[in-house]
Amino acid sequence: MIELEHIIKNFQADTNKNISIHAVNDVSLKINDGEIFGIIGFSGAGKSTLVRCINLLERPDSGSVKIDGVEITKLKPRDLYKARRKIGMIFQQFNLMPSRTVFQNVAYPLTNLSKDEIKNKVRELLSLVEISEKENNYPSELSGGQKQRVAIARALANDPTILLCDEATSALDPQTTGAILQLLKDLNKKLNLTIVVITHEMEVVKNICRKAAVMDHGRIIETGDVFSIFSNPKHEVTKNFVRTTSNLSKLEILLRENSPMVKLNPGEVLARLIYIYAEVSEPLISSMSREFNLEINIILADVEIVSGIMIGGTVVIFKGDRENILKAFEYLKARNVNVEVIKGC
Ligand code: ADP
Repeated sequence: MIELEHIIKNFQADTNKNISIHAVNDVSLKINDGEIFGIIGFSGAGKSTLVRCINLLERPDSGSVKIDGVEITKLKPRDLYKARRKIGMIFQQFNLMPSRTVFQNVAYPLTNLSKDEIKNKVRELLSLVEISEKENNYPSELSGGQKQRVAIARALANDPTILLCDEATSALDPQTTGAILQLLKDLNKKLNLTIVVITHEMEVVKNICRKAAVMDHGRIIETGDVFSIFSNPKHEVTKNFVRTTSNLSKLEILLRENSPMVKLNPGEVLARLIYIYAEVSEPLISSMSREFNLEINIILADVEIVSGIMIGGTVVIFKGDRENILKAFEYLKARNVNVEVIKGC
């Protein structure tokens, strides 16, 4: 278990004026073994600094970091070295050594092993991250996704129990991001690896984390299971974060630009439907269309399954008998879909 208690980390912004930046400001957090935990927030919120405090890449000014009950902030250098070997880390820019091959990069952290043991271990790791065929290639010969696979293999060299991922997919395209996230999920299951993911991308958190903490100005402002954070954000910053990263936020742009996509004919209604704990068992739009004899045109959609439950929403234009449209609204509300009429009706 990772236990952070009252972590404070300040940086000197300007030595002349003696201004301090409170990068991490009194953060306490517990992350259980085997969890995939997300730390999310806008850029500059303090996520990277906080995660670097977990392996003491940044020494907190005050507060304690406990790993499996051991307060590593108090360990002597030799014991700290050992403790840190059990915490792997990967980065946005992969941080591979360009003049070494894939094999040599992964072998780098393996000390105190014979040549044969190193060979076996590296091959096992490369197979685990499915990149065995690139063993003799140099980083410059690999794609971004392949580089991150090598970085993951290297991070796992000393059989860590914790893997810290600092914006690990931010430099990758969506498809490669998906593949790396799937690999992290598999490793979490296979190795019971605790994974801490820092990201400014909602998609990443939705995809792999069960629990998350939201940071703003060095503090944790909201924490809980990812589903609750997304479906019912409490803090204004979290609401803003969820809104700005949703595809539905494009509606405001379409309305402002008076786009033909949101122009209504007489009798049409433009509405935003937000699913909270919605029934996934039935196809809502098509069954509603049939039942109330409506034409329903989807303008925007951002629906996700988080922890097995549907969240998100759609922006739609209803066309049909006014009374039937109102009945459809009741039908949706009865299924936990929040209906917000934007215009028409
Ligand atoms: P995030 O990861 O959420 O983008 P960071 O932890 O990188 O945020 O940064 C938090 C704040 O601390 C920012 O204002 C950043 O400029 C500042 N900061 C981070 N590292 C340093 C440093 N080494 N020196 C000075 N300021 C820093």
